[in-house]
Amino acid sequence: MRTRELAEQFREEIVTLRRALHQVPEYDLDLPKTQQLILDALEGLPLEITLGKELSSVTAVLRGGGGPGPVVLLRGDMDALPVAERTDVPFASLHPGMMHACGHDLHIAGLVGAAKVLCAMRDELAGDVVFMFQPGEETTGGAPIMIREGVLDAAGRRADAAYGLHVGASSQPLGMWSSRPGSFMAAADQLSVRVVGAGTHGSTPYRGKDPIPVLCEIVTALQTMITRQFDVFDPVVLTVGRIAGGTKENIIPDDAFFDATVRTFSEVGRAKIQEASIQLVEGLAAAHGLQVEAEYRVGYPVTVNNEAEFNFARDTILDVFGPDRFRERPNPRCGAEDFSFILQEVPGVYLNLSACAAADPDAAADNHSPLANFDDSVLPDGAALLAELAVRRLAR
Ligand SMILES: [Zn+2]
Repeated sequence: MRTRELAEQFREEIVTLRRALHQVPEYDLDLPKTQQLILDALEGLPLEITLGKELSSVTAVLRGGGGPGPVVLLRGDMDALPVAERTDVPFASLHPGMMHACGHDLHIAGLVGAAKVLCAMRDELAGDVVFMFQPGEETTGGAPIMIREGVLDAAGRRADAAYGLHVGASSQPLGMWSSRPGSFMAAADQLSVRVVGAGTHGSTPYRGKDPIPVLCEIVTALQTMITRQFDVFDPVVLTVGRIAGGTKENIIPDDAFFDATVRTFSEVGRAKIQEASIQLVEGLAAAHGLQVEAEYRVGYPVTVNNEAEFNFARDTILDVFGPDRFRERPNPRCGAEDFSFILQEVPGVYLNLSACAAADPDAAADNHSPLANFDDSVLPDGAALLAELAVRRLAR
């Protein structure tokens, strides 16, 4: 396979790039060093490059030699995490308190590799390729900003298909690809609640309105509501991760708060919990004669793999890497991903590639851990597959 041979030729270059990126992890939407490293790596390639306005993204368009056929978009996210690295790799983070703990450094290097491969095959491409280097995946979402700034139409016409991959530091053996059709990753929303009572002395609660027991009742009632009102085969995960209220054991406070993350796996379930959770919170507060402020903030949508694109990607993996390199995941993953915004607009597929450096994947530190260790020997495979998907999809 030509894409694999070419990707192997770029191995040293992209591994070196990945390690340089690993040393300078940057957070959120403004990633100047990361952006510069990408631009340096793409220097001299026959690409039309534009930079983001509201974020330090890089969009590069490759015009295939085979005429204005379809457009394929390939995406790699760029941002790191506020994690203090504790691995012992020789190219560990030089930025205190920051780490590429989710492997996005590999995503960048892999996408640069795919660009190099496809530029070398330019004459054979039956359409155009958009390379989307995206900041802000770990925060509020760089993908919707890039969509607003026109990434889906960067080639002058709308992308016909979109592909992205995420590396994993654990749970699958090195080099294993995995994904599933339909819902692949969760939607992640936030529910914030403030119960407003009336403070008084802790010895005479009848003289005030105690928000604490009402808040506690809401927290437990939300779990009951999920088991009674939601389809067990379309699950909802609601976790109250922060709770606060009061200052001292004998003072009833004026108010009490909690924040919860809400994970759903279908837009139907997502719309339902949004309405039902607010109804329950307001109803329970009213039942006790207290006021409440409840806010449901929508975050990343469900990541949905198009069925036909999933089949195409799976068949391509089996063809390129053989039958032992792909596992279809039986269940969606509970994490969320802003590639979901792209997949709402363009049919495509999101794939996982294991970069687990440990002999026992189940014992390895997960993504986001200060000990997460990604084996970058998989980089040429990641680059080759992205390139191969583009070549084949353009020729279809
Ligand atoms: Zn990630």
